[in-house]
Amino acid sequence: MSRLLIIGCGGVASVAVHKCCQNSEVFEEIMIASRTVSKCDALKEKLQPQTRTKITTAQVDADNTDELTALIRSYQPDAVLNVALPYQDLTIMDACLAAGTHYIDTANYEAENTDDPGWRAVYEERCKRLGFTAYFDYSWQWAYRERYEKAGLTALLGTGFDPGVTSVFTAYAAKHYFDEIHTIDILDCNGGDHGYPFATNFNPEINLREVSAPGSYWEDGKWVEVPPMSIHREYEFAGVGKKDMYLLHHEEIEALARNIPGVKRIRFFMTFGQSYLTHMKCLENVGMLSTAPVTFQGRQIVPIQFLKELLPDPASLGPRTVGKTNIGCIFTGIKEGREKKLYIYNICDHQECYREVQSQAVSYTTGVPAMIGAMLVLTGKWKKPGVFTTDEFDPDPYMDALNRWGLPWTVEEDPELVP
Ligand code: NDP
Repeated sequence: MSRLLIIGCGGVASVAVHKCCQNSEVFEEIMIASRTVSKCDALKEKLQPQTRTKITTAQVDADNTDELTALIRSYQPDAVLNVALPYQDLTIMDACLAAGTHYIDTANYEAENTDDPGWRAVYEERCKRLGFTAYFDYSWQWAYRERYEKAGLTALLGTGFDPGVTSVFTAYAAKHYFDEIHTIDILDCNGGDHGYPFATNFNPEINLREVSAPGSYWEDGKWVEVPPMSIHREYEFAGVGKKDMYLLHHEEIEALARNIPGVKRIRFFMTFGQSYLTHMKCLENVGMLSTAPVTFQGRQIVPIQFLKELLPDPASLGPRTVGKTNIGCIFTGIKEGREKKLYIYNICDHQECYREVQSQAVSYTTGVPAMIGAMLVLTGKWKKPGVFTTDEFDPDPYMDALNRWGLPWTVEEDPELVP
């Protein structure tokens, strides 16, 4: 019998829970535990009548390792799926170690308060040493490798779409199509329209911090950092059409640069419309994207958290969003002495996702891979002691599961390359 503890109950968690409930053979019991237990209860009430998976709920503060450890010890899950926020990665990893449980997440650790002097000293040393200034990186979680190895536990990091599926696509291309991969371009296109002048498709704080930061890419063994949104390209996406896209820093670049031998360049592009960029620039210019607390009418508030209150809840975008996403990777390299180009991508339709699980495609394309990662750990197909990203396992069972659980992919030979 397998039992999964799911932490967080936002947009991504909701999809992951729906998918676990469709897959009762593997997920016989799940517990949804989050800060606001009423959200967990509402999801249970909706899904319990339609599934054989036994659902329970709990309230937990995932910033508190002792509280988490006690919850894990009392529920005794086979694994914990963290779909709360990247801020909670380390406390949840600590609790899994303390309680002896496998750990799975969808995004790498990020500090909530980037003004904390202890965190900043480590961060600034890393910026100098590695040459990129993103607030998130794998070093914090890779540092758990030995402890997970010794405990005989698996930590599977970043099993969303990007990171997650994009790294599985890379492992699949390396296994079946290339002798050497030389370049990887990860393209994340959201052709969806929610009808609001401005809204983010997942947690606004995490999203806006990511896209307002400098871009960077990996080339010839080192990071190259560029000002935010300064590298622009146009690309014709299957199922969506022509879109503007911009180079961003993204976490899977770090893992792929380490794990794909001989790779010369890795870039990540995301599509944005002009209106989104204008809103974001304006919010940034007036200080609304700051994570540093300010005093307002006698109390401390964090501007970006206040902004999150004003923006539409990403979970509410589902019914209004129309159009498709197309996310995938373009590879170049060598096979049997010949140059080769390949594109692997998934197209996902916002309205189809909504009909199936009442969420838009951005939550769907993250929540489905979260369920798949948890399934592969629980069934032992992806289980080995240590801390790993999704490119470090056999990609085949994951690729099969994508086809089966709602994210079918296409392999295109000889695609148009990004200049
Ligand atoms: P949401 O903001 O919708 O949900 C976050 C959930 O975590 C909420 O239920 C929230 O509780 C809960 N939470 C936050 N803090 C705590 C805490 N201290 N204790 C307990 N619960 C807490 O975020 P999303 O669902 O959009 O994103 C979830 C994760 O998925 C994030 O880590 C995000 O970075 C990642 N992600 C990964 C992607 C990928 O492709 N790899 C793409 C998109 C997202 P409450 O309801 O009380 O606010």
